[in-house]
Amino acid sequence: MSNRMLFRLFDFPILLLVLAIVGLHFLGDLVPNWFSGSAVLEGLANGSRAAAPWVASALMLASFFFFTVNCHRLWRWNQGNSDCCFVCGGIVDHKHGRYGPYKHCLACGKNQKN
Ligand SMILES: [Zn+2]
Repeated sequence: MSNRMLFRLFDFPILLLVLAIVGLHFLGDLVPNWFSGSAVLEGLANGSRAAAPWVASALMLASFFFFTVNCHRLWRWNQGNSDCCFVCGGIVDHKHGRYGPYKHCLACGKNQKN
């Protein structure tokens, strides 16, 4: 099991988690501070402050969902119940490209036509 494959498998949940943390800071602290001086934009600042925990919660929930799905993929691959790469035996993604469906290996990066 290569580190590259694990990183590629879990890069999207990690990205969503980082976006949740950055979004919480951005919507909860930065935007209200920018708009705090203006009386006209005070409502926007309050709305941003109120929306920040909801947006961060939704992103964390999505991150947890994709983390669980990818853990299931990793478990199925470990048990030998899923497709694997013809070169290295790593986990493959099923994609649709210009020349039709193909498999993309998450470990070595090779493509295989279905
Ligand atoms: Zn491979």
